[in-house]
Amino acid sequence: MTMLLEAERRQVVERARDLASLTPGRTGNLSVRSDEAFAITPTGVPYDAFDAADVPVVGVGGDQRDGEMLPSSEVPMHSAIYRRADVGAIVHTHSPWSTALAIANEPLPPIHYMIVAVGKSVPVAEYAPYGTDALAENIVTAMHEAGSTASLIENHGLVVTAPTLETALENTIHVESLAQLYLQCRAGGLEPQTLTDAQLETVLEKFESYGQAS
Ligand code: 13P
Ligand code: ZN
Repeated sequence: MTMLLEAERRQVVERARDLASLTPGRTGNLSVRSDEAFAITPTGVPYDAFDAADVPVVGVGGDQRDGEMLPSSEVPMHSAIYRRADVGAIVHTHSPWSTALAIANEPLPPIHYMIVAVGKSVPVAEYAPYGTDALAENIVTAMHEAGSTASLIENHGLVVTAPTLETALENTIHVESLAQLYLQCRAGGLEPQTLTDAQLETVLEKFESYGQAS
């Protein structure tokens, strides 16, 4: 018998292990979309303790369609993002350097050219309790206003969207490392310089042909 969103559920199982190295304990969650539904990590379960049949499948309207376990409490956030943005995957973490910025309500400015992986800055979405529609709305608004595929979440953490789960995880690591550089620079009493809009545009153009020619 075929399983609903089998490939996406297998990806969730495989890549959930990466979350363990990015976020403390059972915090954070990730999802992979296929059309009008997505596979998402189960709520409150250690990241090596579930299989594909356990992985919840949820419609973009927020309704659970399959899976032995209950979905992440952040279904409202994942479904709101999928309803508004053409993205294939979402990663949410409480990764420490990004969360430190979020606690200070400080956006991440363009201190390094790698910021363009997610935009020209990373905004902070206004605080609302985890798992609520209000938080989902604040995150969608912050990303939209900043033109960014990532957002810090005030007194909470980080969320990153991307076409694929692999890229969403990679960009989570980029944002976390930039947040670390930024805070280390400031902790050392140095004033971080930022790149100009023109400098960022040049990087965006160069990125179009970056990597191995296909
Ligand atoms: P879940 O275990 O329900 O995904 O919650 C973790 C979390 O980070 C909530 O914001
Ligand atoms: Zn969280």
